[in-house]
Order: sequence, then structure tokens, then C-alpha cells
Amino acid sequence: MGKTKVSHACQSCGAQYPKWSGQCLGCGAWNTIVEEITPVIRHSRHQGYTGLEPAIINMSDVALHDEARLYTGLKELDRVLGGGLVFGSVVLIGGDPGIGKSTLLLQTLCHLSQSQKVLYVTGEESLQQVTLRARRLSLPEDKLLLLADTNIERIIQCALKEKPSVIVIDSIQTVHTDLLPSAPGAVGQVRESAAQLVAFAKQTNVALFLVGHVTKEGTLAGPRVLEHMVDCVLYFEGEQDSRYRLIRAVKNRFGAVNELGIFAMTDKGLREVSNPSAIFLSRYENPVSGSVIMATKEGSRPLLVEVQALVDQSHMANPRRVCVGLEAPRLSMLLAVLHRHSGVTTYDQDVFVNAVGGVRITETGSDLALILAVLSSLRNRPVPHETIIFGEVGLAGEIRPVQGGQERLKEAAKHGFKTAIVPHHNAPKETMGDMKILSVQTLGEAVEYFKNL
Ligand SMILES: [Zn+2]
Repeated sequence: MGKTKVSHACQSCGAQYPKWSGQCLGCGAWNTIVEEITPVIRHSRHQGYTGLEPAIINMSDVALHDEARLYTGLKELDRVLGGGLVFGSVVLIGGDPGIGKSTLLLQTLCHLSQSQKVLYVTGEESLQQVTLRARRLSLPEDKLLLLADTNIERIIQCALKEKPSVIVIDSIQTVHTDLLPSAPGAVGQVRESAAQLVAFAKQTNVALFLVGHVTKEGTLAGPRVLEHMVDCVLYFEGEQDSRYRLIRAVKNRFGAVNELGIFAMTDKGLREVSNPSAIFLSRYENPVSGSVIMATKEGSRPLLVEVQALVDQSHMANPRRVCVGLEAPRLSMLLAVLHRHSGVTTYDQDVFVNAVGGVRITETGSDLALILAVLSSLRNRPVPHETIIFGEVGLAGEIRPVQGGQERLKEAAKHGFKTAIVPHHNAPKETMGDMKILSVQTLGEAVEYFKNL
């Protein structure tokens, strides 16, 4: 090996430093910076030559064609991929160890193996373990090619010989390249191995899945370096002990971001959920105070999600504000709006809010539902059954419209909801079946409605 360079890299975010320090300035993590020895690779001017003459062309002359897509056999996975798997694309699947990444990909590959040549590279489990899992899930195993190896150069050599059209690397943290002396899993190894695999996929038009484990803090080891190298980043979310698994597209060059795929974990592997709204609603005999059903939109699909709030007298100097599945800074802001524009005080109350089913809600369309759930718990006054709520709340106490209002209302009507509290501009022009629409322009109006329940 020729000349080497000593540098220091954060194992969590990949930031590089000339010398060691205790805390990473990039991501704020402690004790994540380690020494890395990298060989100095001299790039000659001709090394990056790809055989294509660069040419400037007119935009109107660009030939447009739809990417050839491969259906994975799981509709929910196709949905988060933007309508199927694209050849030559690299998809990173991240999630906690044991949440179902290998199960999902093994199912997908066994299905694809019936029509395509596919290769499953395992660096984590032995061939026996992978085969046992396939048997347990009763998957067709006659055509799936397996390789147990962790050396990137050897893996690529095998792939060049076999020419599969889809490859799974399980996982990117276990593979290593001969170019670097550091251990597998080090951020330099992850980056360099991924770079070689990405180049390989682009040159050979192979669709590539990379499995990435998430650290305890909830980030992929070296996430930033990997995220911008790949075409599509999918994350498993939700609780591990829940029956359901949610996969969110965090980045997608071939489809919408924030698209959500919903699966149920069964003894035969992951199954798609045909009616996802139903799993986020808990139906009570009688209405319960603090529980509100909201219509949210994740990606291109409307979803009905139950938001629960518990407001309780606090005995602390700083009352607690706890959010599960919703954003805590947003809650503080909404409580301030509630005080300022409706005179409802919560400074002496602990406030807990939760989105049922482990779904994470990032959109502002949940504001109104959240405020009314808090109010409902505080006043101990249940919101009647079959009421759906959505809308963004502004700092001036105005209720702003959200996108996709019609689709949200349609989803609610489909599930038998009879009343909807919506922003004025989201109120439909014509009637929605027998659904009663209450359009509100200010928080005051919404609270007024609430008083008359
Ligand atoms: Zn860092």
C-alpha cells in the first residue's frame, strides 16, 4: 500500500476533522470521532473518463422515457419506491436491528426470483440462517441465489459473473473494501463500500438494496454520507413491539418523499395492510375525552389517525410537555396560541400527546386536532364519535387550509364519519354525502363550537 493519510471522522455523521476531539461539531454526538487511516489515491486526469463525449444539447431534444419498473410483489413497498423498483437505482433501507428489514427483502427477492435473476448477499447471517428464515416464511427458494461474503471486491466480481438484475446487500455495515485498512462498520468503510456499489449499479443497471442498521440514537451509522449517495432512502418507523411496521420514503429520486408504506408483521412475514386508516383508530364504546380523530396526508395517501391528549395538574415548576409521534416545539407553540387567542391556560398543567399506532406526524394539518384534543382533556369533555378534524393553526389564531382537503374528507366519509371541523377554505363546494361540514376561520370559532357540544 502506498502513502496513507491520517484523519479523524465522526462515526455517526461522517464529518471529518484534522484532529481528535470529544464532541462532533457536526451532529453534537460525544465520543464518536475516531482515527481513520486512508490511503492517498492519486486521481489522474483521465481516471474519471467514462467513454462518453460530453455534449451540450437543447432541452427540447432531450429524449424522455419512463424508467422501466419492476414490481416487487408487495404493493406497499412499490408505493414507497414511487411505483416499483427502478433498474440501476440504489435503495437504502434503514431501521432498528430486528425490525424486519431482512424479512422484507428476503420476501421481495424470493418473489422477484420467479421472474428475474436475483442475488442476496448476506454478511450478517449464515446461508443456513437465511434459508431457515425463507422456509419458516414458506417462500419459494428454488431460484434465489445466495452469497455469504463481506468483501466488496469479491462481491462485485461474483455479481459481474452471475449478472443478476437485483441485488440485496445485508448489511452495508458488515462489508469492507481492500482499499481501506479500517474495520467494517467504520464510517470510511461504509462510505467507500457504498461508493463502489453505487458505481457498480449505475454501470450495470442493477437495482441494488442496501440494508443499514440504525444506531441507538436513531440515526444510521454515517447517514449523511450514505443518504446523498443513494437514490432512495426508506426508514422503518414505529414501535418494534407493535404488530404494524411503517416504512417512510425519506428521499426518493423516482417518487414522492414522505410516502408511507404500511405492513402487518405476521408469522408468514410482512403483509400489506389494505385499509391502513383502520389500524390507527381505536374505537371506544363511548366517546372518551382527550381523543380526537384527525385526517392527515402522508405522501399521496390520506390517513385517519387518532390523536390522544392527557392534561393533568402539574406539581412541577416546569410542567411537562411530552409528545409521542408529534412535534414537541409545535405543541408549545399551539398551547401559547390557545392561551393568547382563547384564554385557555395550561401553564400549571402537564400535557401529554400521542399519535396512536406509532405513526409519526410531521405535517401542520394536525394542529387543530391537537389543540382540540388538549381542550377536550382539560375540560373533560369528549368530542362526539364520528367527528373528524384537520387544519393548520397560525400564530394569529387563524385556521389555515391544508393541501388535499377533499381527499381527507373523502377518506373520512368512507369510514363513516358524520361531522368534520375543517378550515374555511377546505370546505367542499358541494355536499359530501350526509357529512356535516363545520368550516372555521379562527381558533375562537373552533373553541366556540366545542363549548356547544
Ligand atoms: Zn458527527
